[in-house]
Amino acid sequence: MDIFDPDIADLFFDDDGDQVEIPQLFGPDDHERFMLAALQEAVAAAEIDEVPIGAVIAHEGKIIARAHNQRETLKDPTAHAEMIALTQAAEYLGTWRLTGCTIYVTLEPCPMCAGALVNARIDRLVYGPPEPKSGACGSLFNIVQDERLNHRLEVISDFMSEPSVQLLQDFFARKRSQGKK
Ligand SMILES: [Zn+2]
Repeated sequence: MDIFDPDIADLFFDDDGDQVEIPQLFGPDDHERFMLAALQEAVAAAEIDEVPIGAVIAHEGKIIARAHNQRETLKDPTAHAEMIALTQAAEYLGTWRLTGCTIYVTLEPCPMCAGALVNARIDRLVYGPPEPKSGACGSLFNIVQDERLNHRLEVISDFMSEPSVQLLQDFFARKRSQGKK
């Protein structure tokens, strides 16, 4: 499946950017469907010259939050995709407690986001490639599964990593070539 194919993007969102229901294609717990939507968010980040990282939060088979990294756009060190998605999901559910939700992230979350996921009491984390330099969900730390904290997440790591790695590599290669000019 080619995530960059515009027909795939159309599976998720209509022309107004609203979510389209596609129950016949994917099951409610289909990690692939949700990770594809997160990858679409990563593509949206790259398009505005942000490091391409995307996140979506699913609840009862539906995407209730979707966001991409906006650190440069918002000039905000906390504007990671996961943080923005958590705020959206809490607003949607009307509570800070995101029990019953799964978050899909296109890269292993950092310590800030991992801490926020624990604070949100979110059930499950599915992420793409591990991030050995800053990952806090199994690489440098494992904040989301630390027995000393009051909540732990179920984690699926290295899920559909290839398109995410490709997006990140392309982005940084482009940045380097721009820097040389
Ligand atoms: Zn983060």
